[in-house]
This record gives sequence, structure tokens and C-alpha cells, in this order.
Amino acid sequence: MNIDIDAAVNALRGTAAPLSDWYAANARSMPWRDDPTPYHVWLSEIMLQQTRVEAVRGYYDRFLEAIPGVKVLAEAEEQALLKLWEGLGYYSRARNLQKAARVVMERHNGALPRKYEVLLSLPGIGEYTAGAIASIAFGEQVPAVDGNVLRVLSRLLASELDIREQAVKRQLRQVVRGIIPAERPGDFNQALMELGAVVCIPNGQPLCGQCPVSGYCWAWELGRTGKLPVKKAKKKRRVERRTVIYLISRGKVLLFQRKARLLHGMYEPLNLMGYFSQQEMIGYMASAMPLQTKMVPLGAAKHIFTHVEWRMTGYAVYGEASEAVSDGIWADWEEIREHYPIPAAYSAYTKQLPKLLCVED
Ligand code: SF4
Repeated sequence: MNIDIDAAVNALRGTAAPLSDWYAANARSMPWRDDPTPYHVWLSEIMLQQTRVEAVRGYYDRFLEAIPGVKVLAEAEEQALLKLWEGLGYYSRARNLQKAARVVMERHNGALPRKYEVLLSLPGIGEYTAGAIASIAFGEQVPAVDGNVLRVLSRLLASELDIREQAVKRQLRQVVRGIIPAERPGDFNQALMELGAVVCIPNGQPLCGQCPVSGYCWAWELGRTGKLPVKKAKKKRRVERRTVIYLISRGKVLLFQRKARLLHGMYEPLNLMGYFSQQEMIGYMASAMPLQTKMVPLGAAKHIFTHVEWRMTGYAVYGEASEAVSDGIWADWEEIREHYPIPAAYSAYTKQLPKLLCVED
């Protein structure tokens, strides 16, 4: 089944004016909105993928202070970049940001390209992000359809199609392409996103009484707002059980740089697949710390990635470090805080580290 694009465009053409008026009066203030340079829009859109606005604000300011433009980004050390991204998750976003910055330096004289189609060719920039940058920073009349917009459109049209389907996303993008005004297209895109974020909210009842386009909304008319959008269940995540061991010697903890694709380049403690007894752990610790003096259980922790869930049990083990650790580094708290990016997956344990290392944070 398909959306009738022409009928949808005709039905929603009148939404542009009330949406823009509503946005002008109600838009939340955000640093990247208040100063929407191409670099600011790009950085914020990458940070906002899979992450809430409130969580991004602090990271955005800190990142901009350290890396104020494309040239500095292209030349930054990867480890410093990951450190700035530490805790935001989805680290490939940071790596792609840098890859794209290098392309911008090499092929575009250091200025982000103005055209949607050219933006799409940069690493890490998909349909949505290209549309957001092109429309908000450069005023190009192109759609920027994120999850919020998909939800709003699905309800406005009372569409029963699954918004996780690529074909449905493509059709809804075409609908926006048909209704987006030539005047301030970026504001129109942001108005749709903002409406989805604060009025046409997910999970439960949208705030239709406050909606500037309720007069155009078929889901409201039909009493279907709580049932839409249709989203098919995602595949179940794989569960991995892990034993996480912080080997601590003379105020330093042993860390390893990850080689796996997931969280590549980040630092982590000894991390064993499966739950281990104290006796079983000793064998794994022996080469790095042959003499152990104390073991402190750190409790259970969980972290959910897109396709996998880690269920961890943690320990701190104190003792005398061996000289023979070939691929790990011993780091004190200051070094960890300044230089070594630790994945948010370990945050339940990382926050205990100052105490475990006997330092005041
Ligand atoms: Fe969403 Fe309600 Fe507005 Fe329809 S009327 S777009 S369901 S907030």
C-alpha cells in the first residue's frame, strides 16, 4: 500500500503558515538554533542523532570550545575527539564527523557544501542530516524528516503504514517536499520537528489541544491519535553477560584499547565474556597481576546498544602489577579524566573509580 502523495500534499498544504507562526512563538532556545552557522547546524544534528536535546547541550558547548571549526576538526587527534564524545555513545558519529571534515578541507576549501546532494556524499551525512543542514543553514527548499516528523505526518494523514519501512519514509519525505515553503524552509522543517518533540509526542496521548494544525489532522478527527504511528517491533537484542575487572595497583588501573568494531579505539578495563567465579577470574588476572591482595565487588550494571545488551558484573581487584603487560596501559584518575575515552557502557563503574583509586573527584 502506498501514500497518495498528491492527495496528501493537497490536504496538508495549508499547514505551512500555522506551523511557522506557532514555531516563531514557541521554539525552544538552543545554542545551535540561536546561531545557526553551517558548522553549528552540522555538529548539533550529528550529536542529536539518537540523543536527547538536554543531553546534547553540555557536549555541544564543550566540543565547540575545543573544536570551533572544520579545520581544527580535520586535524584533531582521534583520541581527543573520542574523549570529547565520551558518554554520548554511537562513537562512529564522531569518527565520521572527522572524515567528513577532512573531505571538506580537501575538496571544498574548508567550507561545508551548500547543496543537499553534495552534503549527502559526505561521510555520516544521510538524507535527514543533509536536509537539515541545507534547509536551516543555506535556505534550500528540501525536507528534513526525522522520527518526530514521521510521527506527526503519520498522524496528520492517519496513515496505517509502518514508519520504520524505508518506502514509507521515502513517501513521507515526498509529501514534505510538496508542502515545504520557499520562504524560510529551515524554519518549516524545524517547526515540524519541534511539534513532534513537544506537542505531537510519542508513547501515549499527544497534546492535541495545543496543536496549531489539529484542524488538518485525520488521526484527531478519527480518534486514532493514541494508535498512530504504526511501528513494527524491532528484532530482539542479543544479550551478552560479561565480567568486568578493574585491576588496581599503586593508584592506577589497567585499561585496554578496544579493537572490536563496537566502541573501537575507546579504553576499557579487563572485560571477560560470561560471568566468572572468583577462582575462575584468577587465571585471567595472573599475567597482569600475579599477586592479588583484595577484591571488591562493584555490583551489576547494564548497557543497551542498538543490537546488543551488555549485562555486567564488576569487580575491583587490588595487588602488585606485573611489568609484563604488553597491550594495556596503567592510568591514574587524572590521566583517565584528561586523556582516555571510556565508553558510557561502563559509567556505573567509572563513577566509582575516584573512590576505588582513593582520589577526590
Ligand atoms: Fe499530532 Fe494531535 Fe496535532 Fe494531530 S492534532 S498532529 S495527533 S498533536
